[in-house]
Amino acid sequence: MRKKRAVVPGSFDPVTYGHLDIIERAQAIFDEVVVAVIENRAKNQLFDLSERAEMLRDEVGRWPTVSVDTFSGLLVEYMKKERAQIIVRGLRVMSDFEYELQLALINHELAPEVETFFLAASGRYSFLSSRVVKEIASYGGPVAEFVPPKVEARLKKKYLLERG
Ligand code: ADP
Repeated sequence: MRKKRAVVPGSFDPVTYGHLDIIERAQAIFDEVVVAVIENRAKNQLFDLSERAEMLRDEVGRWPTVSVDTFSGLLVEYMKKERAQIIVRGLRVMSDFEYELQLALINHELAPEVETFFLAASGRYSFLSSRVVKEIASYGGPVAEFVPPKVEARLKKKYLLERG
């Protein structure tokens, strides 16, 4: 049987414990998981693409079937290139739902062989987003509960530099 290869796409600006929870659960289900960091032109990112990928690599090493990659352009094209059939996305609150469903439908239209697989966010992370973490860190607030220590250190450095 063909191996089930799943892609977890996202900006990961920066990776949080919410993302890692989804990645951990995905690797327990699928044979191989690629965490794909999107080079997103529309979004204003705090960390550049290679920094975001590096932070992820620091964390996913504990799972042998998980790798980290970067891409730009259409997700479905990337899926074809990677010979992956499943897109894994996390669903937090209802407000995620409309957007995520729209994306899933469009991707399915563009590439019918690709399926989107939703995992419900764990209760303890269902309020957590990279945006909230950046907001707190920008005011020097505590983020240790939400991101791994290495990410926390990078956030501190980034905002200290920004404040000058
Ligand atoms: P995007 O930039 O595409 O919105 P993110 O980097 O914010 O992506 O997130 C990538 C994926 O992780 C998305 O599927 C998102 O719903 C999911 N995700 C983000 N935060 C959490 C969380 N706290 N719990 C579960 N899933 C999450």
